[in-house]
Amino acid sequence: MKKNIFIILISTLFIFVLIYLYDRKEEILNLEYRDYQNHISIDYPYFNNSVIDNYLNDYLEPFLKQGNDWGDLLFIDYDYEKLEDKIELILYIYQEKGSLVQKEIHQMDIDVDNGVILEQDTVVDASLEYDAYQQRIIDKDKPMVALTFDDGPNHNTSRILDILEKYGVKGTFFILGCNVESNEKIIERMSQLGMEIGNHMYSHKLLTKLSNEKITEEVKKVDDLVFDIVDKYPTLIRPSYGTFNKRIKGLMDRPIVIWNVDTLDWKYHNSKRIAARVMKDVDDGDIILMHDIYRATANSLEIVIPKLLEEGYQLVTVSELLYYKGIEMEAGGVYSHAS
Ligand code: ZN
Repeated sequence: MKKNIFIILISTLFIFVLIYLYDRKEEILNLEYRDYQNHISIDYPYFNNSVIDNYLNDYLEPFLKQGNDWGDLLFIDYDYEKLEDKIELILYIYQEKGSLVQKEIHQMDIDVDNGVILEQDTVVDASLEYDAYQQRIIDKDKPMVALTFDDGPNHNTSRILDILEKYGVKGTFFILGCNVESNEKIIERMSQLGMEIGNHMYSHKLLTKLSNEKITEEVKKVDDLVFDIVDKYPTLIRPSYGTFNKRIKGLMDRPIVIWNVDTLDWKYHNSKRIAARVMKDVDDGDIILMHDIYRATANSLEIVIPKLLEEGYQLVTVSELLYYKGIEMEAGGVYSHAS
């Protein structure tokens, strides 16, 4: 008798499980996809039915094949409504390049029972081709320059961030890996303020003197340290001393960014002199070299930034500068200015 009750209980449970599984058939589940090597991070909808899977797989294939190798981040979000005979689905696909964000909207009606897409429409939202988080609009027809800061972070970097924040402008920070420890909060703030983060190697050695293995290690250590803090890889590479050769170019999976205006701040530690040097040479499309670890550099910004703004310059990140000047950056390519 007891055995019979047990069998009935088990059968009932089994039926409930079957009903549950059947019910799930049309449900959209949320899957996470993380491919750190290709810099792709996706929370995407998943149908037990394969329509959307196939659609997304086709979309993702080129990213996975070629790699997403200069620090792009792909992010997919969605909104859907289940109607009697179909599902209306909107996919929001964001692609992040440094501080730029481009949004694609893929709207479709899906007949889930028959596994077909009934209607499909894709819109690239051009209005979002700027820093969507900061709601900042850059006018590509107005002059712009990129301030870049090497060798940090240290205690002085916070001062630099204060000043950039005060004037509502952006800069690009080429992080030195050996300075990351105990300065994690500063890097976090950098990212929150929409600054671009680049890789300036781990230990500031002359790369031309290192083996391929050592160079790759120098890059990777910084990548991992930065990723642990801000969930993003550095978008650009600046070799220590700005020194590179053909071999080094071939090793880099991201653009190499140097400069065309050198403030020599490390040499003079004289804020007025640093400021004068920038204002004397500055031109549309320039990439300006500074070091965020010095107080004189911070002080010079209090002179330079208001002057540049007064002269109509927009202060943007390196990726923004090249993007708005229509320069397509490549892995291993070298960029010193955008004019
Ligand atoms: Zn340096």
